[in-house]
Amino acid sequence: MRLGILGGTFDPVHRGHLALANAARDELGLDEVLFLPAGQPWRKAGRMIASNEHRLAMLRRALEGEAAFPVSTLELERAGPSYTADTLEALRDDRPEDELFFLVGEDALMDLPNWERPQRILELARLAVARRADSSPEALEEAERRLPGLGERVIWLRMSVLAVSATEIRERVRGGQPIGNLVPAAVEEYIRKQGLYRT
Ligand code: ATP
Repeated sequence: MRLGILGGTFDPVHRGHLALANAARDELGLDEVLFLPAGQPWRKAGRMIASNEHRLAMLRRALEGEAAFPVSTLELERAGPSYTADTLEALRDDRPEDELFFLVGEDALMDLPNWERPQRILELARLAVARRADSSPEALEEAERRLPGLGERVIWLRMSVLAVSATEIRERVRGGQPIGNLVPAAVEEYIRKQGLYRT
């Protein structure tokens, strides 16, 4: 199987994540894209994050009926920080026949040299990358300098930039602004009913 893997904080899941999964599936002919919410997103340490239960509930609502987009609780169940290298190793051991594609936005790609065992990530998976609103060619050069071989493992997706982030959504909710066109309706409803992101 050609397996896409989309890891994230998903606080909350939004249309950008769904567009990334859909674009990668279509452009790379993936059989599935596995959504993997991080248990302890260590790159976002020091920030308030909605509970695992809330983030998982929103993901399940967003992906309901999408047979090709399963959710994995692997990182939620693992103790300690959620390192992608560990996750990819576990997936590779579980499904040795599968070809792994790790889906990321450009911001995450640039940050990759700072991750735990980034070289191992490149060995285990190719990277399917979406441009984000603050695109910068110099940043990729810098990332490549710090992580040799990065460029060879990158596949740029042709999808157009979708300027939405979870940060923007949380800020809009806090400011009482609508988020209806940034998240699926079921996620908007969940955020409202649970009173998330108001403070
Ligand atoms: P935050 O604003 O809270 O930092 P985020 O919107 O970037 O969050 P994450 O859950 O951290 O969301 O993202 C998971 C993955 O999805 C990352 O690789 C990120 O780059 C990618 N991603 C998020 N939003 C988009 C988008 N609009 N277009 C393409 N990729 C995206």
